[in-house]
Amino acid sequence: MDARLEAIRDTVLARNPGEAEFHQAVVEVFESLGPVHDRHPEFLEAAILERLCEPERQIIFRVPWTDDQGRVQINRGFRVEFNSALGPYKGGLRFHPSVYLGIVKFLGFEQIFKNALTGMPIGGGKGGSDFDPRGRSDAEVMRFCQSFMTELYRHIGEYTDVPAGDIGVGGREIGYLFGQYKRITNRYESGVLTGKGISWGGSLVRPEATGFGTVIFTEEMLKTRGTSFDGQRVVVSGSGNVAINAVAKAQALGATVVACSDSSGYVVDEAGIDVGLLRQVKETERGRLKDYSLRRSGVSYVEGGSVWDVDATVALPCATQNELDGDAAARLVRNGLLAIGEGANMPSTREAIAVFQEAGVLFGPGKAANAGGVATSALEMQQNASRDSWSFEHTEQRLTDIMVGIHHRCASTADEYGQPGNYVLGANIGGFVKVADAMLAQGLI
Ligand code: NDP
Repeated sequence: MDARLEAIRDTVLARNPGEAEFHQAVVEVFESLGPVHDRHPEFLEAAILERLCEPERQIIFRVPWTDDQGRVQINRGFRVEFNSALGPYKGGLRFHPSVYLGIVKFLGFEQIFKNALTGMPIGGGKGGSDFDPRGRSDAEVMRFCQSFMTELYRHIGEYTDVPAGDIGVGGREIGYLFGQYKRITNRYESGVLTGKGISWGGSLVRPEATGFGTVIFTEEMLKTRGTSFDGQRVVVSGSGNVAINAVAKAQALGATVVACSDSSGYVVDEAGIDVGLLRQVKETERGRLKDYSLRRSGVSYVEGGSVWDVDATVALPCATQNELDGDAAARLVRNGLLAIGEGANMPSTREAIAVFQEAGVLFGPGKAANAGGVATSALEMQQNASRDSWSFEHTEQRLTDIMVGIHHRCASTADEYGQPGNYVLGANIGGFVKVADAMLAQGLI
């Protein structure tokens, strides 16, 4: 790392103790930014990096609710409004028992650069709670969401901060959150949340966008090696929103997705995952992946273990952070991996990224590869602002154009800085320069 940036990194890590994921995200970005500061000493003078690493606002609040037995439950809610240089704070809400400030800050920090790369007018933010929706009834989830919004509503708004979904937050949760926001404020403010239902202000393609976008970005990377998804053997981790739609898109482009996972285990389906059955089990029934294997012949289910034991030519990690470590990366490379597109945020550890890069594997980092979700959220905001709704085809074309544009921005930035094919460097510099320029123009705030 550039010596000038090392000192700033040390201060940031010391100021934010115990936030391992945030540290990891910061260090990964800093490692790319040395050459930018050679060209732009004004960024150092204006302390852009120090300011970028300090969220503009952090909100932590109590979320009391009652379960179906009438017992009082207490969770912790978070919203980190990280950077508004390019537009209102924008980023999802995560409901998962592992959520704490360090996870929300890593996600919010990454979101700044991701949102800049989309070319849309959106700043970076993220939020969530340590609430676990798994195993909870609809009524419990509704009571939790209503309590969560009873505090959050005063901090958000279509020109201020626009939350969306992430792990554990899908259409059901966005519906309950929107309903409570409307009830408290007495405003039908469609643009305050994205990921809404189609009949009440949502956008077609938003549910598919992150998974589809990851595959479109990865297809663009494959094209640089004269190949495509057609005929590839693909492994996807996770079986939630991002994973299912990545499976669907990869198979639509001619690949065979042979495995996917959930937090209990993974299935291997050599004939190619049946997307209809996967949606039925995971989305409609909110069941476990094991149920998929019980309903389809020729499928094996492995309890526990790592889906990265299954060999593939293309890997799409779409579950969670740090799910793919150095050993798994080395195994995938030995077994003939050609490309990896991160649907999840920071799913590869730093060791894994080093293995991929040394082996010359095409590596699409999450802040570029999974930006299709937030980009389509920005398209939802556009439709809300003009009280319009676009067709599936039109919206999907916009998503495709955006993903091809992001790929081009990352690739050309990597070329410009003398590291062709380094998408990590391209994404970090491409996103950073845009935000830094806007921060400089807006003065010391
Ligand atoms: P979902 O909640 O829909 O699905 C998450 C999936 O990952 C589930 O299969 C879940 O398994 C699995 N998973 C979650 N946590 C763990 C864990 N600790 N260990 C193993 N498996 C786990 O979330 P999304 O699909 O929306 O999000 C997946 C990833 O994509 C996240 O990193 C998110 O930040 C990122 N992302 C999402 C976007 C979106 O638009 N939704 C946009 C950009 C990035 P189980 O079913 O057992 O819980």
